[in-house]
Amino acid sequence: MAGDSGEPSSFVALIRYLRDGELVNAKYRNAAEKRDMRQEGGAEPCLFGWHLIDPKARRIAIAEGEIDAMTLHQCDIPALSVNAGAGNHQWLENDWSRLERFSEILICYDNDEAGEKGAREVMHRLGIERCKRVIFPAKDANDYLLQGADGSDFDEAIRSAKTQDPEELRQASDFMDRVKAMFYLTRKGEKSPLVVAKAVTMFWLDDRCQYCWGVGSFVIPGTPILGTTCRHCGGTGQRPIPFGEVGKATLAHMDAAAESALHSMRRRLRNTR
Ligand SMILES: [Zn+2]
Repeated sequence: MAGDSGEPSSFVALIRYLRDGELVNAKYRNAAEKRDMRQEGGAEPCLFGWHLIDPKARRIAIAEGEIDAMTLHQCDIPALSVNAGAGNHQWLENDWSRLERFSEILICYDNDEAGEKGAREVMHRLGIERCKRVIFPAKDANDYLLQGADGSDFDEAIRSAKTQDPEELRQASDFMDRVKAMFYLTRKGEKSPLVVAKAVTMFWLDDRCQYCWGVGSFVIPGTPILGTTCRHCGGTGQRPIPFGEVGKATLAHMDAAAESALHSMRRRLRNTR
């Protein structure tokens, strides 16, 4: 719709978010000033472009802006766009189940720092084994088109898309023996593996001297500090390394194991469909 003045700056593009035949969100974008953009208040954060996606499609591209998604669509690449830029991932929750059917997801975020960071985060959330990072030799897909790229150029960019570094992918089974050992520790009758694992980790992470509780002098519970230098820590109040170091390594190991197990579960859940 053009404003009464007819000035180009008052031209506003209406972008409609349609999904399952329903209007989920609408955006108003000033064609002359890209930053001038408004969304319907209280609308559900979701991906743009669902109404154009073949329900049988198993490959999808996700771009950082609606115009980029339209550009890709124009080049016969089924594409969606996030609704609020590379740094906002709220759509993931709302569109999660709709994205489950895709075996390949092409992340076509902008070729800049914010796009790179957002792409990495989104790929990890969607499962790095089915995601590829597509980088167009331009700022973004639309910019590439404006520079004269055609369908075959876009196909080429997609062909050279990269998965995340495979070194980051480890089998859950690689960690299983160590995880099991950790979870089946029992001490002083404590039978809950999670409670024990947590207590052990906290013990290793706490670098306070366990004799003087970090104050550097002997403490008899319920009495004032006597002022005698603690001979276990030499008065520093800290336990010597490797206490904290081992704790940090244990924690990092648990994180890696949990992450890897989640990837594996996601993969198996998809394979059972
Ligand atoms: Zn001490």
